[in-house]
Amino acid sequence: MTPIDPTAAVGIVGAGTMGSGIAQVAAVAGHEVRIYDAQQGAATRAVGTIAASLARAAAKGRLSHDAATAATDRVHAVRSVADLGGCELVIEAVVEDLGVKRSLFADLEQVCPIEAILASNTSSLSISDVAADLHRPGRVAGLHFFNPAPVLPLVEVIAGEHSDPKVLDVLVATAQAWGKTPVRAASTPGFIVNRVARPFYGEAFRLLESGILDAATIDAMLRESGGFRMGPFELADLIGHDVNLAVSRSVWEAFGRDARFTPSALQQRLVDEGRLGRKTGAGIYPADRPAPAASVPSTGRGGDNDAHGRLAAGPDDMSWQLTAGDVVIRPTDGRTAAQHTADGAHTVVLADLALDYAKASRIGIAAPPAATTHQVESAIAALTDLGYQVSVLPDTPGLVVARTVAMLAAFAADAVDSAVATADDVDTAMRLGVNYPRGPYAWGEALGWSWVTGVLDALADAEDPQRYRVSPALRARAADTPARRAAAAMWADDAASQALGMTIEQVSPGQAEVSMRVRDDMVNGHGICHGGLIFALADTAFAFACNSYNRRTVAHSCDITFVAPARQGEQLLARASERHREGRNGIYDVTVVRRSPGGTADDLIAEFRGRCREIPGTLVDEEAHR
Ligand code: NAD
Repeated sequence: MTPIDPTAAVGIVGAGTMGSGIAQVAAVAGHEVRIYDAQQGAATRAVGTIAASLARAAAKGRLSHDAATAATDRVHAVRSVADLGGCELVIEAVVEDLGVKRSLFADLEQVCPIEAILASNTSSLSISDVAADLHRPGRVAGLHFFNPAPVLPLVEVIAGEHSDPKVLDVLVATAQAWGKTPVRAASTPGFIVNRVARPFYGEAFRLLESGILDAATIDAMLRESGGFRMGPFELADLIGHDVNLAVSRSVWEAFGRDARFTPSALQQRLVDEGRLGRKTGAGIYPADRPAPAASVPSTGRGGDNDAHGRLAAGPDDMSWQLTAGDVVIRPTDGRTAAQHTADGAHTVVLADLALDYAKASRIGIAAPPAATTHQVESAIAALTDLGYQVSVLPDTPGLVVARTVAMLAAFAADAVDSAVATADDVDTAMRLGVNYPRGPYAWGEALGWSWVTGVLDALADAEDPQRYRVSPALRARAADTPARRAAAAMWADDAASQALGMTIEQVSPGQAEVSMRVRDDMVNGHGICHGGLIFALADTAFAFACNSYNRRTVAHSCDITFVAPARQGEQLLARASERHREGRNGIYDVTVVRRSPGGTADDLIAEFRGRCREIPGTLVDEEAHR
């Protein structure tokens, strides 16, 4: 791919914030730059602004004084669109108004030679719409810089419906030649960054609106556990709530007011009250406040990374579990701590997601409402001893970081599935455009798409089925996990379980659920299900859970306690979950319950404990799968 000729002139229309910044980038790259603005004197002022900005950059050592002077000398204000006639590339950065942009492009089409590329820096308008009335819409594309353009590396190269692929290639190569990192995107609402980033603010505002958490705790969780450079409220205060809300509203409107993009009523109130953020003195926080700290019960010394390492085997290990007295602490999967506790034999305290449990300084935890103060204190003490600050969160589905990351990953997957951009480009855009600590697509893949859909499903059940709905493509992605592939391979060879009419309900790393209906040929002379068959059901769930890591695993001991009888026609469900795993050995707890008709109050039928050992080999060749 070849960039535009380094000796070619570049035209900039609109000498405001973005036009000046882009002009500076082009001039530093060696181009003669001509700036035009409809407002008299604006282009000349922009030339002065650019000269001052280049002088500051030279003073800071970012480029030599000679280079700064030479770049300054290459920038000229011009008086009319006609003066841009000799430019090989013209970049438009005028007001965000479709009518104004269309008429400008019509003028540019008249004055620029047919080989010239015409690009728009629009943040939200459709490139296809901007180019709709032109004779040659093929030479129009989006070239979306981020503010401040001289500093931020990302450029989204946007393909309109008629954009010529060669024009897009030239823009990608030109952005690279100018020292930027281009990503390619289709002209869809919000392109990549402004679309995929919506839940970062949206989820935070929903939590704040619900009144169960304060802004400082939400920000602290996303920064100190999630690894984001700024919390959503700090960032929105910096960007300005008017600007942030305008982007949210425009994407929401463009998607036909899709519930996934619904803007926050609270943010609208801030804007209506003129609390726009730092620029007006107050937004979510007062302008003069120091960096916010979590205000919810918080304790611990933090920072002891050696100790942290014991919690999880790696950044994406979501199968860790820590026992503190009679409490089990484990990472959230979207269900509440109360649900986890009801489904097992122990009080479960949930830990919010961390970017890397070995490096996070803070962990958020949630205990079920029925937990005693002593149990909550034991959980806090266990994590504090490992070096974490602990924030006690309300027991809501997906807590803070997990719900945000699950939504970001789902939005990233949706952008990929809708052919907006490749997964790599989505991740690059989010890392460079908004400084995310990790690309949300790669993050979703590492956590497992079934974890992502699990969190969304829990939120859909508890809060809003439309906002948190899982797309069919994401559902299909979630179904195709290594654990499920391993389960499918095991199931194919398990004639005994199949003959008993069992169904594998779900399998994820360290967990499995298997159901079975008690048939008339399964009951004994007392009319109750044969105990051996209940054992077989529990044992099957145990086997699928311990083989879910796609490492061959054999049972070496099991105990079962029968609690209540099961009768003909009843639907039984065995839930197996890993209690402990170390080296090649694992211990799994299985509960067998009788499903109540509404699935609400299940009766316990049996409790089972199994111990297993991994043996060499895998069930599925994952390398071949890739
Ligand atoms: P701005 O208000 O700072 O500057 C716009 C300039 O365009 C003004 O100087 C105005 O006089 C001039 N103008 C208006 N109509 C014109 C016309 N018909 N011909 C010539 N000049 C005209 O705006 P900005 O923030 O630089 O944004 C410009 C574009 O860049 C918009 O499309 C915006 O969506 C996009 N954008 C902005 C940002 C940002 O953070 N500000 C980031 C990325 C993209």
